[in-house]
Amino acid sequence: MFSLILFIFGLTFGSFLNVVSFRYSPEKSLFSFRNLLGRSHCPQCGKTLNWYELVPVFSFLIQKGKCRSCGEKISWQYPLVELASGFIFLLPLYFYSPLINGQWTMVFCGF
Ligand SMILES: [Zn+2]
Repeated sequence: MFSLILFIFGLTFGSFLNVVSFRYSPEKSLFSFRNLLGRSHCPQCGKTLNWYELVPVFSFLIQKGKCRSCGEKISWQYPLVELASGFIFLLPLYFYSPLINGQWTMVFCGF
């Protein structure tokens, strides 16, 4: 259960990495937080995405990798980065499983 939460947290972090990597471009200000915090949108038609279209990996699979509005293909980079990030977050769990099974489980679960 703990690993699932960690995995989902990793997926979310990967989703955030995507946003940062895609929205950062030389012609836009690096310090434009409004740009970073703005709602995600389709790069093709500009449609603002709803929350259910922003669920890491799952939205991509449900929409078959296409924009719901214009049908433009969504880059595979999104789900791949999200998945990779999810697994990277799981790695420490396997390397330090004795530690995790001991006191750290209690720390993370709030016992
Ligand atoms: Zn679109």
